[in-house]
Parts: sequence; C-alpha cells; structure tokens
Amino acid sequence: MRKHITNMGKRKMRSLPKIMLHEHLDCSLRPRTMLELWESLGFEKAKIAFPADVLETWRRAGSESGTDRRRSRAQAAASYQKFLVGFASQSLANYVGAIVDHVLPLMQTPANLTRITEERIDDAIADGIVGMELRFAPQLHTWGGLSLEQVMDAVVAGTRTSPFPIKLTLCALRHENGDMARKIADLCVKYQRHVGVFDLAADEKANPGLLKWWLKAALYVKMLAPKTHVTIHLWETDEPTDLDIALLRGFEGLLNEATARAAKLGDSADADAIWSVAEQVVEELYPGMSHIHTDADSGSLRIGHGFRGNRQGNRLLEVCPTSNVVTGQVASFADHPVDRLHREGKRVTVNTDGTLFTEVQLSDEYRKLQEHFGWTAADFLKVNLTALEGSSFSQREKARLRAVLKRAYGRP
Ligand SMILES: [Zn+2]
Repeated sequence: MRKHITNMGKRKMRSLPKIMLHEHLDCSLRPRTMLELWESLGFEKAKIAFPADVLETWRRAGSESGTDRRRSRAQAAASYQKFLVGFASQSLANYVGAIVDHVLPLMQTPANLTRITEERIDDAIADGIVGMELRFAPQLHTWGGLSLEQVMDAVVAGTRTSPFPIKLTLCALRHENGDMARKIADLCVKYQRHVGVFDLAADEKANPGLLKWWLKAALYVKMLAPKTHVTIHLWETDEPTDLDIALLRGFEGLLNEATARAAKLGDSADADAIWSVAEQVVEELYPGMSHIHTDADSGSLRIGHGFRGNRQGNRLLEVCPTSNVVTGQVASFADHPVDRLHREGKRVTVNTDGTLFTEVQLSDEYRKLQEHFGWTAADFLKVNLTALEGSSFSQREKARLRAVLKRAYGRP
C-alpha cells in the first residue's frame, strides 16, 4: 500500500534516511569548531578580521562555566556564521575569500582534517543521512607542509568510524592545469578503496566548460580505476556551449577508444604509458568533437548542479537548491527550477553543497521542497533512489540501502 506522509515536520524529516552526493568538506565546518580552532591559531591571524562581538562573546565564555559557557559559545558561533554568510553572499570573490581566509587555514594539519571529517559525518548522522559522497580538493590542504598523501590519510582516518557508507570525491580545480590534475588522478587510483569519484570544481565563469586537461585526467582515472565515477560542476553559473555538450556526449566514446589503445600496450603498461594514451586520444579526437552525432544523452558522467536550461539529457544532476540561492544564481527558493526538472523526469538528486554558507542540513532542503513545491514521500523516494543508483557505493551497499529507503518512504 502506498504510504502518504504529508507535512512532515523537522523531526520527521531528520529521521528519514537520505543519500547525499554533493557536499564540499571545506564548506561544511561547524562554526563553533572554527572558533575553537581559530583561538588556538590566533584570531588576529585571520586576513578578514573577526567581528568584535563574536570575539567578545567567545572570550567571555572562557571565564564562564556550565550552561552559561555553553550558551555563550553557541551564541558566538551563531553570530560568527551570520557574519561569514553575510560576507560570502556579497559576491563570488567574497565567497571564495571566506573559504580561503577563514576555512582553509584551519584545514592544514592531520588532526584538524580528521576532526572536521568526523564532525561532518556526525552532523550527517543527526540529519538522517545513510550514504554520502564527500568532496574536497586535497591540494588546498598542503599549505602547512603536508603532502597530498598525508592529507588523504587524515581525511580517510576521519571516515573510519562512519556508520554508513561514505566515499570521497577528489576535485581538480578549474584554474589549475594538467600537472595538478595528474596528481589528483593518481590519488584517485591509489586510494580507490576510499575515493569513489573524480570531479572538476571551482569557478565556471572564469574557466568554463569541459577543460581539455581535465578530460585527459578523467580518462586516465577511468582506465586505471574503472569503478571510479566522474562528475563535473556544470550548468551552475553558466550554460555549457555546444562543444561542451558534444564532449559530454562523446566522453564514453573517448573512453572506449582510450581503453582499446591501452589494451594493445598489454599488461606491462605503466601509469605513464596510460597517461600518454589519454593525452593522445584527447589531442587527436578533441578537434572533431564538436561535430559528434550521437544520442548518448545519458552516460556515466554526472553533473554537479546542472540546474540551468533544458539540455542536461538524462544525466544524473546533483542539484543544490539553497546553495544556488545563496550564491545569487536564482532569486529565491521558489524560483529554483528543481521542481520543474524533477517533474520533467530528469534524474534529479538533492544536496546541500555545504552547510556552513547555506545554513541548511539536507532535511531542511527537503522541508523547503515540501513547503514550496508540495513534494511528498514519493518525490523524496525518487530522488533518493536516483542518488543511490548513481552513487559510487558497492552493489551490496546499494541493495541494502534500496530496501532501507523503500521501507521508510513507502513503495510507490
Ligand atoms: Zn559543488
């Protein structure tokens, strides 16, 4: 029998099992933890100065005890988050500035990286999340002298006690280049037990589309760690060009060609030889890609955001509604096309992108979808099953979670 759950309240929404695919570790720190870590680092070292009232409340808490202390700390954390959100939402430059100057300085030691990862998972548990892909760019955590491997080990350590399946997503960044992409791709291969996804993130306006160097790295990852998924931030701030669409359609073809060429090299082919194959294939075939004629509007390549226009095809979309409002991509939640895309039958999934600046947990996103678009249990089941099928979890985990989801939301 179909189970209808109407007007689910905060507690009910939290208790429902959820799958999250798109969440940036460096955008989801707890404000209270940030203040604690900044205190030991030295508040005066922050490039963007802390507001006086935040520091005053936080310091006052130091001389208090018990409930007073807890209350003052919570108050300082809330004011600090308001300040960060207000600052970040003024412009894209401010948004990046808030991450670079206030968040990343706290993510440069193994202990902090492990703690921040553990806390993100604890918050996810309280939010009802039962499977999560968590993304970050390891190269942003080497400023304090850590190697990329040390960064990976610290984050992996933070996932060890997770009660639900968790896979890491490693992000190459649009303003980087093929040299860094190769390093990140190598981490995807080396840590493939923990890393489920290779992504391209950062400013789509400044460096738009499917970048050539990233395509090479994506092919390389798929050849050496075939179970790894590939995602790309697209349709977030820009509409992809015809060439981008052609490249999306042609990705499987490029991969087939590269795999066939790599097979000819035999088992002795090392990573450098595979990298050369990926480079050759992209260099040779890229110029003709804009003329590609294929109906392959699906494929394994997943899209981060992907909410603009109507050309997404049947690709999985990692939609982050509140994030798009906070960064000024849509005027309000009610104006977000997530409901239209979902009703049109596109493969929509719902995500928070980062809880620090959006000030929402996933259950809050769900409540907004219920409030603005009348989403019911059937809608939430659909987006969760889509997320699960498209995720990088193992078949066994997927089968178990499918049953968990159907039991909780009812069988449509
Ligand atoms: Zn993102």
